[in-house]
Amino acid sequence: MSNITAGRITDFLQSKQSEMIEMLKILVEKESTTVDKKLNDELGAYIAELFRQMTGGKTTTIQNDLYGNHIKGEFGSGTEQILILAHFDTVWQKGDILEKIPFKIVDDQAYGPGTFDMKGGLVQGLYALHALKELNETLSKKVVFLFTSDEELGSPTSQHLIEEEAKKSVCVLVLEPAISTEGALKTSRKGVGMFKLSIQGRAAHAGVEPEKGLSAIHELSKQVSYLYKLTDLKKGTTVNVGTVSGGTTINVVAAEANADIDLRVKTQAEFDRVIPIIKNLKPNIEGLQVEVSGGVNRPPLERTEEVVNLYNKAKKIAKEDLGFTLLEKETGGGSDGNFTAPFAPTLDGLGAVGDGAHALHEHLFISEMPKRSALLALLLKELGS
Ligand SMILES: [Zn+2]
Repeated sequence: MSNITAGRITDFLQSKQSEMIEMLKILVEKESTTVDKKLNDELGAYIAELFRQMTGGKTTTIQNDLYGNHIKGEFGSGTEQILILAHFDTVWQKGDILEKIPFKIVDDQAYGPGTFDMKGGLVQGLYALHALKELNETLSKKVVFLFTSDEELGSPTSQHLIEEEAKKSVCVLVLEPAISTEGALKTSRKGVGMFKLSIQGRAAHAGVEPEKGLSAIHELSKQVSYLYKLTDLKKGTTVNVGTVSGGTTINVVAAEANADIDLRVKTQAEFDRVIPIIKNLKPNIEGLQVEVSGGVNRPPLERTEEVVNLYNKAKKIAKEDLGFTLLEKETGGGSDGNFTAPFAPTLDGLGAVGDGAHALHEHLFISEMPKRSALLALLLKELGS
C-alpha cells in the first residue's frame, strides 16, 4: 500500500474524531440491555440506517423472536468476503445511564454503558468503511458487517448466523475491545466447556445403619479431587468445579450430589483429550451412579499460523502507517470470535482502547478512536486487495 493512500485514510479519520464522539454518545444513550427486545430493535434499526448512509451499502434485518433483530450490512462486492463482527447489546440495565454511569467526557476519556464493550468499536468500524467509501478505495472483496444483539448472553440466537457467515469468509475481524489500556489485540481466546455432574447414591440413617448407605457426597469429593488433577497449566488447560450441592440433612447418608464443572482450553486438541475423560467419569465407590452432561460451550480461538499472519499485517500497518506498536495477548474469556475461529482465521480485539468492561469505570480513549478506525480501514484495504 502506498504511503499516500495510508496518509489520506488516516487524515480523513483524524478529521472525524468529534463526529465519532457524537455518534458514540447517541449510541450509548440508546440503552440496549440484551433482554429488552424493543430497545435493541430500535438501536439495530438506527445502526442499519447509519450503515446505509455512511457506507452506501445495503442492510438486511434478521428477525428474532426472543432478542433484538440482528443486522447484516454488506459493503462492496467480490467473490470472496471478509467478515466484521460487532454486537450492540450491553450488560447494563435500562436506566443505568442516568443512575450509575452517565455518558461523560473527562480529558481524553469517554465514560458510559457500552462505550468500551463495544459501541466504541462499532463506531470505529462504521467510520473505517465510511473512509474507504468517501476516498473511493474499492476493495476486491465484499465486506459483511454483522451487528448482533445477544452477545452478552452467549449469542444464543446469533451463533448460527455468525458461523454461517464465517464459513463464507476468508477471515474475520472482531471489534471487541482491545486488551485494556495497552490496546493489545486478542490472538488467543480459550475454549469453554460446561458440564453437570450428578451422583446418585443411597440414603440411610447415619447412626442406625450407615453401612446400608452409599454416600453421594463422599463420591463427589473423590470426583472433585480427580477433576482438579486434569488441570495442565503448561498447556493452558484448567478445570474448575464452580458449584457443588448435595445431601438433605446432617444425619442422613447423602443420596444425591451435584457439581458444575468449567473447562478452559487453548486448543481443540486439549478438548479432544479432556472432554472424553470428563464425559466418562466412573464411580469410585461401587454401587453409585455417576452421570455427566454438557460439552463444548465455545471452541477455542487458537493462535494458529493464519491468525499470527493476520496479526502481523495489523502490526506492520500500526508501525509503518500509524506510528505505534501493536501488541498481542491471550485471554481466558470468550467472544463471538470463538465461534468463527474453527471456520476462518479470526483477529479479535480490533475495537476500542480503554478499560472497565462491565464495570462502573467503563470508558474508552477518545484519541484512539480515529487511530484504531484507521488501523481497521488500512487492514481491510490490505486484506481486500
Ligand atoms: Zn463485547
